[in-house]
Amino acid sequence: MHWFDEHAEINPETWRALMADGDQISKNFNRSEFACKCGCGFDNISFVLVNSLQALRDFFARPVRVTSGCRCVEHNAAVGGGEKSQHLHGLAADIKVDGMTAQEVYDWFERRGWLGGLGIYESWVHADVRQQQVRGTTGDAERPACL
Ligand SMILES: [Zn+2]
Ligand SMILES: [Zn+2]
Repeated sequence: MHWFDEHAEINPETWRALMADGDQISKNFNRSEFACKCGCGFDNISFVLVNSLQALRDFFARPVRVTSGCRCVEHNAAVGGGEKSQHLHGLAADIKVDGMTAQEVYDWFERRGWLGGLGIYESWVHADVRQQQVRGTTGDAERPACL
């Protein structure tokens, strides 16, 4: 199936079919990359988020590593996530891009006016698609853990 070649924008209906269908959910991302790391099976990641990460992947033509995607309540607590973390809703991903610093990745999101949540940590960037523009950094007392 080569749906991604013709569909830069994926509508929700197509997305639902893809999510029910297989592991590959965009040109370069697999659904399993976003699954909760505890093994509970929670992997209902946002298509808006994956589309944005695909845009990042395409822009720099470098692999994007998802270090954390969906998190169940237990796993989120175990990794020190915030109580209202967007990871709990499948709306967030922590990422690293091969050959790029966290700052360079963060700046890419900022330059395109990222409308959701954005955080920069020692070696990774947190991006989420909540309906609110929020920014956070390492050492921020208000948000010591992942946004
Ligand atoms: Zn879990
Ligand atoms: Zn995060």
